[in-house]
Amino acid sequence: MMKNWEIKIVWMYHDIMDLYGDKGNIMVLQRRCEERGIHVVIETCGIGDVCDLSAYDLIFLGGGADREQKMLIDDLLSRKENIKKAMANGSFIFLVCGGYQLFGQYYIAADGSKMNGLQFFDYYTDTGENGTRCIGNILIECDLDGEKIVAVGFENHGGQTCNVQQPLGRVIKGYGNNFHDRIEGFYDGHVLGTYLHGPLLPKNPKIADFMIVKALQKKHPEVRMKDLPVLDDTLENKARKALFKRWNLSDIE
Ligand code: GLN
Repeated sequence: MMKNWEIKIVWMYHDIMDLYGDKGNIMVLQRRCEERGIHVVIETCGIGDVCDLSAYDLIFLGGGADREQKMLIDDLLSRKENIKKAMANGSFIFLVCGGYQLFGQYYIAADGSKMNGLQFFDYYTDTGENGTRCIGNILIECDLDGEKIVAVGFENHGGQTCNVQQPLGRVIKGYGNNFHDRIEGFYDGHVLGTYLHGPLLPKNPKIADFMIVKALQKKHPEVRMKDLPVLDDTLENKARKALFKRWNLSDIE
């Protein structure tokens, strides 16, 4: 095992928040750790489960339809102090779409009903005008602690997220946070929220490795990307190239 490294991951609301293969994110984290001899523990936390989220190195919450978001919101809000503790302890938080929305001020669902979010950040999410949704493949350029990485994914959300002070990146193709701003997601060094499903990590192995490093840093702050043994990403890169080709973008890596 590599230097006795271990990552503890918790997947919140795994049974209801798993749109467009979000589970694949967990599978990729697991596989990329195991191939490097990093021990991985994966646990789940559903509605009503007793769980100390601050004990984990990485917390994952995927996307879901409005119905599922309504089902879990009370449980999520009841965990606010525990999530705060996790953030203070250095847990890395990865949020996709419906999960991303619920960390902001509020989310207005397609039927006009309003859910208050955890309100950790200033952003808020309104519903699209007349039922419009941002749907399709998406290409963004992220800035991950100074490193520029092009990420590909798929988005399908009615929610229009506004007032994002620290976006994950700029939109090259697709929509992102809303129809207008041309920015995507949120990233403040500890919490990464994005509309990219797909799932995100199988198509973007560099981001998967980035998250592995962030999770390892909770117990080992000295760990850097260069400390991870390189894996063969030929297939992943082929999948990315296929998408770039559809957009006639041959010069992107
Ligand atoms: N229900 C939310 C919306 O439509 C989130 C959807 C998702 O997670 N893909 O905006």
